[in-house]
Amino acid sequence: MKGISRVLMVLGICSLSLAQAQVNYNQYFTGETMRVDYFHTGTATEEHFSLDRVLNDGSWAGSQTVLLDDLNRGLYFFKITDTLTNTLLYSRGFASVFGEWQSIGDPAWGTFHESLRFPWPKLPVRLTIEKRDAKNSFVAIWSSVIDPKSRIVNPAVLKSTYKTFSYIENGKSDNHVDIVILGDGYTAAEMDKFHKDVKSLTDELFTVEPYKSRKADFNVRAVETPSASSGVNKPHPGVFNRTPLSMSYGAFDSERYALSYDNRTIRDVASSVPYDYMFILINERTYGGGGIFDLYSTVAADNKFSRYIFVHEFGHSFAALADEYYASDVSYQPTEITVEPWEPNVTALLDPSNLKWKDLVKPETPIPTPWGKTDYDNYSYGIQKERRALRAANVPETEMEALFEREKKTSLEMFGKSKYKDATGAFEGGNYMQFGIYRSALDCIMFTRNKQEFCPACTKAISEVIDMYAK
Ligand SMILES: [Zn+2]
Repeated sequence: MKGISRVLMVLGICSLSLAQAQVNYNQYFTGETMRVDYFHTGTATEEHFSLDRVLNDGSWAGSQTVLLDDLNRGLYFFKITDTLTNTLLYSRGFASVFGEWQSIGDPAWGTFHESLRFPWPKLPVRLTIEKRDAKNSFVAIWSSVIDPKSRIVNPAVLKSTYKTFSYIENGKSDNHVDIVILGDGYTAAEMDKFHKDVKSLTDELFTVEPYKSRKADFNVRAVETPSASSGVNKPHPGVFNRTPLSMSYGAFDSERYALSYDNRTIRDVASSVPYDYMFILINERTYGGGGIFDLYSTVAADNKFSRYIFVHEFGHSFAALADEYYASDVSYQPTEITVEPWEPNVTALLDPSNLKWKDLVKPETPIPTPWGKTDYDNYSYGIQKERRALRAANVPETEMEALFEREKKTSLEMFGKSKYKDATGAFEGGNYMQFGIYRSALDCIMFTRNKQEFCPACTKAISEVIDMYAK
């Protein structure tokens, strides 16, 4: 009896996964992209959604075979189901500006404009948005039926008036990762510089694994949006500016966090070319950037550390990687961590025998892995204090860059002495928490500006996303 029920269970699982795999793209989808724009509104404790527009965002650049997302990443998750058969047709994890804003606990109401993009359905579909609960499981928080034949759905493609150019063209969009790069704060006279920045930063991305060995899986295209004046908005030092994409430093009052809340404009501009992932270059030297999973990443193009910021922030937006640092002004420390973080590169190590990346760990490596943390913490918190003092004094960017260089040199010397500097293990400290969260290696692009490589957990997590678009 036992044996039979086990066989039936196995068959049941197989038939379920076969049913998922059998979603036939051509049966359900037209080949174009449906974009649902909505407002995401709430306070620190509640949230609401209201539909804005349903648009045609051009031809579908994503995979026609990998339609379902089983990576379990992002604070949010959306599903597209066929309303007649309830078949799950498409799903993706994502994060949002609202989600970040909510996490800072502002008691006021806030509204952010967001978009979800998926293959244009032939028949009515249900869009469901889910969010993590306290145990990090997804629960539905909003749903809406979309009939592609309805008058509120606009099937017209926006005819782009922007100049576009292609930097890397390796093949068809449906089996390649398509990156679109936008620029803000570049004047018409600076467009040559924009082209140069696109090329040099893209080249840098492909010097880092796993992007390096999978470069042939990517297409990179860019869109020009010249602004009337050079540079973007920088409220902390009192430099105010209006630019086409409304990029601004000072998001959530962090001087180095650069985002734009003008999602409508950004999405319209990005749709000038087929894309899966978006990057926005800021024509500035002031250190800064940001990255939100499945939305966009941003980087100041002229900083001494632009290359690092570019690769680091793209780690957030492309693969939902967590920050592995913790000694910064965004750090906080709860008394006890009882829930495993969902990000692929950090763990609460609640079950050391079942470490998230255990297949990458050698048996002789101790878990947790010792790494000279006390000395590093003392040094690193001192650097953060200096950094805050320099920013408060509004010193030239060269002084800040010199501090970062000094930090890099000293921490590289400290790490060089560590017995497990090249091991994969569980190193305490990460995701803004000094204690109770662990990362897979001593160093990583998501941890410091030292090493121009991702740790093994990050590398694997990035490869898994590439596989979703370039199989
Ligand atoms: Zn990492």
